[in-house]
Amino acid sequence: MAIQWFPGHMHLTQKAIAERVKDIDVVIELLDARLPGSSANPMLAELTGRKPGLKVLNKQDLADPACTALWLAHYNAQPDTRAIGLDASQATPARQLIEACHQLAPQRGGMAKPMRVLICGIPNVGKSTLINTMTGSRKAKTGDEAGITRIEQRIVLADDFYLWDTPGMLWPRIIVAQSGYKLAASGAVGRNAFDEEEVALELIGYLQGHYAGLVEARFKLDPIDALRDEQVLEAIGRARGGLLAKGRVNLQKAAEIVLHEFRSGGIGRITLETPEEFAGWLAAGQQADAERAAKKQARAARKKGSGRRSGQGEGAGEGEDPGAQDSPAEGP
Ligand code: GDP
Repeated sequence: MAIQWFPGHMHLTQKAIAERVKDIDVVIELLDARLPGSSANPMLAELTGRKPGLKVLNKQDLADPACTALWLAHYNAQPDTRAIGLDASQATPARQLIEACHQLAPQRGGMAKPMRVLICGIPNVGKSTLINTMTGSRKAKTGDEAGITRIEQRIVLADDFYLWDTPGMLWPRIIVAQSGYKLAASGAVGRNAFDEEEVALELIGYLQGHYAGLVEARFKLDPIDALRDEQVLEAIGRARGGLLAKGRVNLQKAAEIVLHEFRSGGIGRITLETPEEFAGWLAAGQQADAERAAKKQARAARKKGSGRRSGQGEGAGEGEDPGAQDSPAEGP
């Protein structure tokens, strides 16, 4: 399954960020603490270059605290980078953000040299909620559907601290296959862009390996470690009474239950990747991506050669590698 999209406003965002970043001191990237690697945006790093970065692991109330500690240590070990965990229950998140930004750019501050900060994050990561808490107003719209924030705005967090909110967010081409599933499971991807059953099965696969006890407790199941993911989904459907005619389980309904329970924290505090796991997937994804690109190039070169021999032009898109999508198909 390839989960990809690139709605028009995300092209605009890319331009807006490139323009804005020139006068920015610190870039805050809001990450989902349940999937910090998958919810990060490699394109952002390309656009913001060497600007100091604050990684905010948001929704930490839903994430496994031990994994959050690993991710914080991982980011805090990187140069010009700091990381903090946050969630919507924090009454004064602005104080933490301001303090971390001053550590990253100590030369800024005071009315003559106000701190200028850009805040970015993929849809549904909790950016509007955070901004609303900080401003105490309803300036940023919130919603549980992906992609609601649209218009760039400047927020004055203190007399000498300006925060720029970007419209929407760039969506990178997802090269880590696992990330597509995790993003869909977390609620970052519009619900029409993926198959719930497929995503629920992938989620169950990870949970079986890492959080089997939580799943068994939540759905009152017998041990699930020896079962196939489909069998676990079926058992959950049965436990929740999602039955069709002749006692068959409604797997679609069961998948929706699993995703809802995961997103709301009903199963427990869960993180879907450790820094180490993600690094492994990323390396494999990058290698596969490079191989696809090389194949594509070789194909294009072959076509060009045969076109010249037969006196024909290049065929458009013919023989495209379905795994190598540059422009995603569906918006949130
Ligand atoms: P945005 O698209 O990044 O602006 O995300 P929103 O602020 O609209 O939040 C998306 C959803 O996540 C909403 O349903 C919020 O209530 C929820 N949310 C935001 N922050 C947190 C958090 O720290 N913890 C939890 N559990 N939910 C949150």
